[in-house]
Amino acid sequence: MDGTLSQNDLSHVVEADKAHVWHHLIQHKPFETNDPNIIVEGKGMRVWNQNGKEHLDAVSGGVWTVNVGYGRESIAKAVYDQILKMNYFAGSAGSIPGALFAEKLLAKMPNQSRMYYCNSGSEANEKAFKMIRQIAHKRYGGAKHKILYRDRDYHGTTIATLSAGGQDERGAQYGPYTPGFVRVPHCLEYRAGDQGAPTENYGEWAADQIEQVILREGPDTVGGLCLEPVTAGGGVITPPTGYWQKVQEICRKYDILLHIDEVVCGVGRTGKWFGYQQFGIEPDMVTMAKGVASGYAAIACLTTTEEVFEMFKDDASDPMNYFRDISTFGGCTAGPAAAIENMRIIEDEGLLDNCADMGAYMLGRLGELQDKHAVIGQVRGKGLFLGAELVADRDTRAPAAEKLVQAVVGDCMKQGVIIGATNRSVPGYNNTLCFSPALIATRDDIDQIVEAVDGALSRTFG
Ligand code: PMP
Repeated sequence: MDGTLSQNDLSHVVEADKAHVWHHLIQHKPFETNDPNIIVEGKGMRVWNQNGKEHLDAVSGGVWTVNVGYGRESIAKAVYDQILKMNYFAGSAGSIPGALFAEKLLAKMPNQSRMYYCNSGSEANEKAFKMIRQIAHKRYGGAKHKILYRDRDYHGTTIATLSAGGQDERGAQYGPYTPGFVRVPHCLEYRAGDQGAPTENYGEWAADQIEQVILREGPDTVGGLCLEPVTAGGGVITPPTGYWQKVQEICRKYDILLHIDEVVCGVGRTGKWFGYQQFGIEPDMVTMAKGVASGYAAIACLTTTEEVFEMFKDDASDPMNYFRDISTFGGCTAGPAAAIENMRIIEDEGLLDNCADMGAYMLGRLGELQDKHAVIGQVRGKGLFLGAELVADRDTRAPAAEKLVQAVVGDCMKQGVIIGATNRSVPGYNNTLCFSPALIATRDDIDQIVEAVDGALSRTFG
């Protein structure tokens, strides 16, 4: 730490935080006796807390976000220069970084041509839902208004995105939900047995389940299908062979818009610019947020094909025929300014290749842990987006108890390594350790993470 804040200043920060801040995702009773963790500084892959304790961050800011690592001066400078010149103008006006980032990123997304700016993954997904709904009204008299989402996928924290959420514990107690969202089964091959699925051609079977739901609901009522390319918080679920090809065919067959939620996978996390590009998918809409500017500024985007865009232009004489939506802070220029520099770093430092290489290395190292610890049922993932599912029994695949999974996370934390787990999301299956180090990770970083997990598993499970 650079020591700019004295220990007194930091003690004041802790007291102010305890007195006034309502933290995300946590019960506050323990803060009556314990201090919260205040992250004071970050550099590269590492962060320091209020006590000066160093941690290796294996989850990129907690939730898969800081893809290019901490302390990037060039991003700070790009944002500084831009906001001094022009920080904000909203409504229908554009901006210099907004235009240039759209051009730069869309060049990496061959079938996408338009970018809509907003602030969070939830908001981007809501906007995609609104587009699907508006198209249903414009083209089908409102009939094709239903949106399908998948068990174990997550699309956000607002009421509409929770209504499209496949992680029941996140939504419990926030009903009633928004109508018109229909659930389809997940595609986790390791859990095929729990679904009563056949052991062969699981990918096709899982895709076929989507078609069955469409037929049950009536294809004339279904306008959109929203899926994560690799499911994140639901258990780091990589799709089975043959799945995506069939899903794409189903969407085309029934004229259903395919909306891919790249909030986690987007901008490098899997070793390609987008997760969907790993599987040869041609989406109609893509949403992204976390890695777009690596958390240096709040920015989220929704991209569409030109075909989708054109639908909102077709009858210009009708004053209501446009996308009637706005995002106040979609007019902030800090986001696209940071995003342009974030992309330059990824390109100039070869971070997509590093992500693919280090991801393969880490998957191998986690595989070694699986050979050593019977509690690891499966390791999976793509690029630096990996999971290790813990089981009480390898034969029955009964999930390991959540409190033991959390004990592993806590033990790693004590060792100075921050890892994640699918806690409090999918009832009964909160048993996957999650890893998403920044795309700059080296072999030494990965070795340190794997060694911490190795020790934690030995201490927790013997
Ligand atoms: N989609 C996915 C796949 C996510 O993982 C998240 C956040 N964890 C969201 C959407 C929501 O993003 P935000 O928290 O920025 O609203």
